[in-house]
Amino acid sequence: MLDSKQNPLSCMFNVKKMISPLSDEVKMSKEFICSSCNFKTKYHYFGKKPPFVKSFMMMEEAYIMKDPFSSEGGIIPLGSHCTICGKSVCLSQECSIFYTRRFCVHCVKENISEFPPEIQTEVVKKKNK
Ligand SMILES: [Zn+2]
Ligand SMILES: [Zn+2]
Repeated sequence: MLDSKQNPLSCMFNVKKMISPLSDEVKMSKEFICSSCNFKTKYHYFGKKPPFVKSFMMMEEAYIMKDPFSSEGGIIPLGSHCTICGKSVCLSQECSIFYTRRFCVHCVKENISEFPPEIQTEVVKKKNK
């Protein structure tokens, strides 16, 4: 039950307790947000070599989430940073392309002539969708 007569100071105290930096919830609250589609989820690791998977190396630095449905320490790569604009983008084909490095679709379109024909047709296909 909420007590509306509660004094403001005790309210503040309660909030501070809730966001204590020692709680697990706060540790887990690192969030990945795709700047293109706004897909948002929690992630566990950012980098090339997730510590919870043995002998595994990503092609690029990526936001990685532990696969909750895998018992063998599977992972789900969520996204990475665009090489040009540095924004975080998810790995969906709608949002980014991997061509030696990660590029967001926006930057690919802006620099389309720098990319090989197969990437160009990929992006043109997206445009006409
Ligand atoms: Zn996205
Ligand atoms: Zn970009």
